[in-house]
Amino acid sequence: MESQKKFSRSFSFEFYPPKSEEGAASLIKVHNELAQLKPDYFSVTFGAGGSTRDKTFESVVAIQQKGIPAAPHLSCVASSRDSIREILKNYQTQGVNKIVALRGDLPSGMMSLGELRHANELVALIRQESGEYFQIHVAAYPEVHPQAANAAQDLKHFKLKVEAGADAAITQYFYSPEAYFHFIEACEIASIDIPIVPGIMPITNYSQLFRFSEMCGADIPRWLRKRLEGFGDDRQSIQAFGVDVVSELCQRLLDNGAPGLHFYTMNQSAPTLAIWKNLQL
Ligand code: FAD
Repeated sequence: MESQKKFSRSFSFEFYPPKSEEGAASLIKVHNELAQLKPDYFSVTFGAGGSTRDKTFESVVAIQQKGIPAAPHLSCVASSRDSIREILKNYQTQGVNKIVALRGDLPSGMMSLGELRHANELVALIRQESGEYFQIHVAAYPEVHPQAANAAQDLKHFKLKVEAGADAAITQYFYSPEAYFHFIEACEIASIDIPIVPGIMPITNYSQLFRFSEMCGADIPRWLRKRLEGFGDDRQSIQAFGVDVVSELCQRLLDNGAPGLHFYTMNQSAPTLAIWKNLQL
């Protein structure tokens, strides 16, 4: 973990673009509450194939105008180079200079893969189009991306993104701090020298978390699964327990040199606020 200690800490909160007017009103409130914690930036997800393209842009511009930087996610699957160039230009016009560059996943039913196959090609395109203008964050997988043949291959692919010009990485969420520590060690051996910020998923709803984790390859350790199952439908107990477990995870990560935390807020403020309070940041 030594290599990560030299980086200054970055704290960020992730939103998805609201799907309804009610969602938009709620997100304004959530943003205002989380803005009081003075994060380094907010980020806004992007639907693969550009399905939330306009909504991501609108949310990013609205957040940026309120004073704390906003970083749009941008996925390249099922997109053309020209459409990506246009998105980059629009963000530059708005003074947005951080971006989370991803491959994305092909939505079911969408056949065309697009012109860029992997996130390293997207990072290269961003650098080619806009030089050093954007600070580029990419995804990292301490528990290995679900489509990767093995950890070594996945690490090699992660390094390609760094070599293409990524400045920092945000990890997929995990609940075993050892997964992160081992991943950082492997990155050190591979001479990967960028900040790798743990992605943190608060626990609020067990069945949703279980489904989501199956899809994205995040492991819910057996002890945690069994404790959560034991709460049945008691949402309040799940949330209280979730805050304790995730606060401990965050504390361990920070104590061991993690360069900040990136919270997958799911457009809710309460769980992140409770964890933040426990961490006394
Ligand atoms: P890549 O880095 O391209 O990796 C994908 C797979 O291909 C891996 O198995 C890798 O080992 C392999 N690979 C990579 N490069 C090569 C290469 N050159 N040759 C051969 N194989 C290669 N999804 C969204 O749709 N919208 C979002 O806003 C979004 N935000 C995210 C934010 C974070 C922090 C994270 C961790 C994930 C996010 N995702 C998002 C999910 C992400 O799009 C998926 O995990 C996707 O499957 C992989 O994206 P990637 O950028 O990691 O892809």
